[in-house]
Amino acid sequence: MKKISIVVPCYNEEESLPLFYKEVDKVTEKMSKKADFEFVFVNDGSSDKTLEELRKLAQKDKRVHYLSFSRNFGKEAAMYAGLEHAKGDYVTTMDADLQDPPSLLEEMFDTLETKEYDCCATKSTSRNGYSFLRKTFTKWFYKIIAKLSKTEMVEGARDFRLMTRQMVDAILSMKEYNRYSKGLFSFVGFNTKWIEYENQDRVAGTTKWNFWKLFAYAIDGIVAFSTTPLLIAAFVGILFCFIAFVMIVIIVVKTLAFGDPVSGWPSLACIIFLVGGINLFCTGIIGEYLAKTYLETKNRPIYIIKETEKDL
Ligand code: UDP
Ligand code: MG
Repeated sequence: MKKISIVVPCYNEEESLPLFYKEVDKVTEKMSKKADFEFVFVNDGSSDKTLEELRKLAQKDKRVHYLSFSRNFGKEAAMYAGLEHAKGDYVTTMDADLQDPPSLLEEMFDTLETKEYDCCATKSTSRNGYSFLRKTFTKWFYKIIAKLSKTEMVEGARDFRLMTRQMVDAILSMKEYNRYSKGLFSFVGFNTKWIEYENQDRVAGTTKWNFWKLFAYAIDGIVAFSTTPLLIAAFVGILFCFIAFVMIVIIVVKTLAFGDPVSGWPSLACIIFLVGGINLFCTGIIGEYLAKTYLETKNRPIYIIKETEKDL
């Protein structure tokens, strides 16, 4: 019988966890003739009682494994750790807040069993429950990254997907420190079937993302999967050199022909500000890539584990 690993990153999910476990347990019960299950919960440095909940679950259910980080490393790190420790033939990643309906697991499993697909992924059709700012921002992000990157980012794609062992190993072979999962999933290729569903509300707790966190995450995604911004910076540089050249010619000719003294420092001040601003902007873009390169070369671990169910 095939084994399915359920990887769940958890950050301050003490309220959601029992509900999540109950729901998923029902599904595993229903699918017990088709597949075996294991849970890999990753406690991403929660400051509430998430770890206690996980210890309780692990004592109650032999299928439950957990990894507890030494601090908060972020969802990407938690997913990576979970995938590394999952032993199943098929592996799924799910949020702990039941925004990813566990009932879809059976359909996803059946899809992979046909051997036609290596992955069954989900996307939500609506973004109900998210703020207007977040919705607008997300829409623009997908538009921009589609122009900048060759790696396709599917709009509305969730991290909830069931993958074959082969695909999981491919993802694990990418050991980069700046992990942007949506890009990584797409980068490895393989046949993916998409299923859609209406966005669900969180069962309990609150979202861990705010506008600035999402903004930084979006920049990470762009820097990780495109070098086009560097090219844009170079082009802007060339464009300004060209404009400056034309202006020099005009001023020299004007002075020689009409003996016109150059007048007006306000226009000059504007130009200096503009060029200075663009200069800093381009340096900033380069700096962003340099910073990421710097972090990658340090080769720091993506996560640090403090406790697992084996310590119980
Ligand atoms: N999460 C995590 N580490 C973090 C932030 C979030 O492990 O630093 C987990 C969180 O517990 C949840 C999932 O990632 O299981 C998605 O987070 P959330 O529901 O807050 O995001 P949203 O659904 O609002 O995009
Ligand atoms: Mg959520």
